[in-house]
Amino acid sequence: MKIVVDLNRCQGYAQCAFLAPRVFELHGEEALMYTPQPPVEQRERVLRAAAACPVQAILVEDRAEAGAEAAGPDSPGGEGRSGVR
Ligand code: SF4
Repeated sequence: MKIVVDLNRCQGYAQCAFLAPRVFELHGEEALMYTPQPPVEQRERVLRAAAACPVQAILVEDRAEAGAEAAGPDSPGGEGRSGVR
């Protein structure tokens, strides 16, 4: 699986770091570090973290096992830069 965090959206709430500390780590108040390709055993935690993120900043691409499960738009990330909610 692959994850991408939209750091423009991320507000540093640290929900993800709390739910999946091996994948997401918060340095300081807003600097989020994460593992873009977390190991399979972290899958559940990553999914929970993505669901718990208050601003939906975590995009999960989960096509390794569940091919039919579309994780969402596969956009290259060029859009929405100015759209901070
Ligand atoms: S839960 Fe969402 S907003 Fe909070 S640190 Fe993680 S990615 Fe950022």
